[in-house]
Amino acid sequence: MKSKITIIFLSLAFLIGCSTSKEPRNLYYAKLEVRQYFEDTTRYLKDVRKVVEEAKQYVEKNLDTSKNNAAIFDVDETSLFNYEYLRTFDFGFTLESWEAWIDSAKAPPIQPVLDLYKFLKSKGIKIFFITGRHESKSKKDIDPTVKNLISVGFVDFDGIFFKPRSPKMKTSEFKSTIRKQLAQQGYFIFINIGDQYSDFEGEYSGKTFKLPNPAYMTF
Ligand SMILES: [Mg+2]
Repeated sequence: MKSKITIIFLSLAFLIGCSTSKEPRNLYYAKLEVRQYFEDTTRYLKDVRKVVEEAKQYVEKNLDTSKNNAAIFDVDETSLFNYEYLRTFDFGFTLESWEAWIDSAKAPPIQPVLDLYKFLKSKGIKIFFITGRHESKSKKDIDPTVKNLISVGFVDFDGIFFKPRSPKMKTSEFKSTIRKQLAQQGYFIFINIGDQYSDFEGEYSGKTFKLPNPAYMTF
């Protein structure tokens, strides 16, 4: 009797296994979908705008001007849009090509986020960028990321923090460490806008607003 039950159980497990095993979607179609999402601005920008509207409403409802309020902005796929790079390399990545793209300082802004930046500035909220980018190796008067941000409209901010090249650490660890330092300096981390969960993990996250990004994931 026991062996019959075992056989029935194993047969069922085999059948379930067969029915749930499925070849993943072909990468060609996955990339095509991501391209269509970004290129059809009625989809990507609409989704970004929705998050930005939620952030604005949150600020209107919860702003306490007696605090030294700070807003945390991520850079890539939050403030600046690197789709030209992503498309050129078919969503591939090498540190060399990526740093050359950063040095070109030609990423356009993500317009709804630029609008949010201006809105927060008008409310007297301090703006800090915390980015997984490293400081540029190229010897320039002004770091290309700073130059890029200023040239597209993020003209005035209270600080920008680049991830150190060494020691190696997770982006989430770096970002939460900086937020903690800001809090220790007396800032209230009010809101935090980014496209990756690593923008929000850890202490002093503030109220988080997650933008869409189906192209990549950083940790
Ligand atoms: Mg990002």
